[in-house]
Amino acid sequence: MPQNTLPPTRDKLLFTPGPLTTSLSVKQAMLHDAGSWHSEFNTVVASIRERLLALAGVSRAAGYECVLMQGSGTFGVESVLASVVPHHSKLLILSNGAYGERMILMAAAMRMPIVILRTAEEEIPTAAAVREILQRDPEITHVVMVHCETTTGILNPIAEVGQVVHECGRQFILDAMSSFGAVPIDFSAIPIDYLISSANKCIEGVPGFSFVIARRSALLATEGIARSLSLDLLGQWKGFEKNGQFRYTPPTHSILAFQIALSELEAEGGVVGRASRYAENHRVLCEGMARLGFQAHLSPSVQSYIITSFHFPKDARFNFMDFYHRISEKGMIIYPGKLTKIDCFRIGNIGRLFAADMRQVVRAVEEAVTEMGIALPLPKEGF
Ligand SMILES: *Cc1c(COP(=O)(O)O)cnc(C)c1O
Repeated sequence: MPQNTLPPTRDKLLFTPGPLTTSLSVKQAMLHDAGSWHSEFNTVVASIRERLLALAGVSRAAGYECVLMQGSGTFGVESVLASVVPHHSKLLILSNGAYGERMILMAAAMRMPIVILRTAEEEIPTAAAVREILQRDPEITHVVMVHCETTTGILNPIAEVGQVVHECGRQFILDAMSSFGAVPIDFSAIPIDYLISSANKCIEGVPGFSFVIARRSALLATEGIARSLSLDLLGQWKGFEKNGQFRYTPPTHSILAFQIALSELEAEGGVVGRASRYAENHRVLCEGMARLGFQAHLSPSVQSYIITSFHFPKDARFNFMDFYHRISEKGMIIYPGKLTKIDCFRIGNIGRLFAADMRQVVRAVEEAVTEMGIALPLPKEGF
């Protein structure tokens, strides 16, 4: 397995939810200037669209399309919401974290009528609750949910909810930003109309664009809906179909890097291979943190292997910024928590990171806490 080798001025390792640590070859792929309308570049764009469909286990022949969209993942989500929900209908948003809440803000900015099914940040929504709402409100035509809610690392039940959405005759939109490429998503079992993800999460590319995997018949039926010019999903798709190009300046370097990132994902054994590395990273991290007495926020039954939230030590000497800087001095970047009620920090397992890197971050946590004068292991938290 290749390790992260960029001595002696190696970048800090990113234990974050994206952007992530990428391989040297992904970074090197960007040392080129590509002409955005030249056929060489457009061949790369076309192949990326095909390979993303293959990664999802679907194809154009099977009725799916892949649309690339400039901007980070949020732009991709906003593009779908702005382009596919008809003006006279309602969107049901399932929210149990910051990314669900962000979609509520998007809808507000677009003056889009919505219904919200909000659950606590540690709890997954139930398919029964979704069914009840859909049966009560015939104006809801689309349902959107987040697969891995990166706020906590919770994994939401997309198969159960997707089934109910389909049975109720509505369309299903999935924010699979931090899961696609590393958590298996079976399009043949889950009726997904639109899936959104981005270049710089589990596929381990660099930031610059998001992408949407859409059921073609659903996409083609969205004519005239778009509430935005630059984020018009069908318009973008038509642009690719017309001349193979992005409508506006593409993130050329990010596209070149992504091509290599996709090859490295394929070489690792695709989604299954990447899943096993991330799951091992997660196991090593959680074992190490538990040994130090840290309490993970989520119950293991809903915890993904993407990112984990840990409670702050209950000790007056603990200060997050001090802790963060000590770990940064040791060459690693962790992430603050994003929970509304409980003080947490987060450690991600995704990106070009391996078990040895996870052991290294646990060691850094141990040293930082000890330097702050806090004895380890931490006392067990009472409930
Ligand atoms: C990262 C992420 C996004 C998009 O965030 P950007 O900062 O715009 O890339 C959306 N949803 C989820 C679940 C994410 O993890």
